[in-house]
Amino acid sequence: MSTLSVDLSGQVALVTGAGRGIGKAIARALAQSGAAVAVNDIDAASAGQAARELGDPARAFPADVSDPAAVERMIAAVVHEMGGLHILVNNAGIEYKTPILETPVEEWQETLAVNLSAAFYTCKAAGPIMRDAGGGVIVNIASIAGHNIPLPNRASYVASKAGLVGFTKECAREFAAYNIRVNAVCPGVIETEMTAESRSNPQQVARWLADIPQGRLGQPDDVAGLVLFLCSDGARYLTGQAINVDGGKVML
Ligand code: NAP
Repeated sequence: MSTLSVDLSGQVALVTGAGRGIGKAIARALAQSGAAVAVNDIDAASAGQAARELGDPARAFPADVSDPAAVERMIAAVVHEMGGLHILVNNAGIEYKTPILETPVEEWQETLAVNLSAAFYTCKAAGPIMRDAGGGVIVNIASIAGHNIPLPNRASYVASKAGLVGFTKECAREFAAYNIRVNAVCPGVIETEMTAESRSNPQQVARWLADIPQGRLGQPDDVAGLVLFLCSDGARYLTGQAINVDGGKVML
């Protein structure tokens, strides 16, 4: 539950990978602030369930965001069914844990496609709609891994998130002319299914906690609060940034 008071009524927000975890918390925060939320996930059942939990006017738009044609269809459907698109949150992501020498080419390509190329596809499709409507907000969920933070056996993930931070900055430069702000959010270790396996290892958790000044792992709502702020008018002079939300783990 977010404590930030933001009025997003009249705005349509699309959140990718919002069937669970961080994306679901972001969708909830935006809906609680008055936005009509389009809930995307590759898993139709979890997208539908999340949209039902949010209630009207939220709707599910299941699609694989790594498929450019599916993304075009999804964004057209959101605009047609919900009346516009003002906020885009690129949250869908996957992570494999494989050493480079053992990484199949398909695994590398899939990670880059979901974590990086999908943001290009959605921004390319949503950009003209936001431009023609007078502006908009895009938030890309990257990672502290996007800032050269070592993550053993996750080269494809680190490369995808560093790429997403770079894309965010170029997109912010180009889209500023259209009054579209583009920022990245870089979570540290957040308690979701993505980190469940690692969190089951007490030594791993102890190593993480030793590095986090605030002394705890993050919750999905910790990330959602920052995303909500970035979507608000309070962040109107903020674009092209990659902001860590990690309890102080990484200080740049
Ligand atoms: P999660 O619990 O695994 O949720 C990710 C969601 O994205 C799942 O619902 C997944 O669907 C969906 N998804 C995967 N591929 C997709 C695709 N091609 N098209 C549409 N949806 C797709 O992960 P999370 O922890 O909430 O992570 C959310 C974002 O935060 C990711 O970008 C992740 O890299 C980033 N992040 C997470 C952490 C962390 O510690 N958790 C830290 C830094 C950054 P399925 O249900 O089918 O798998």
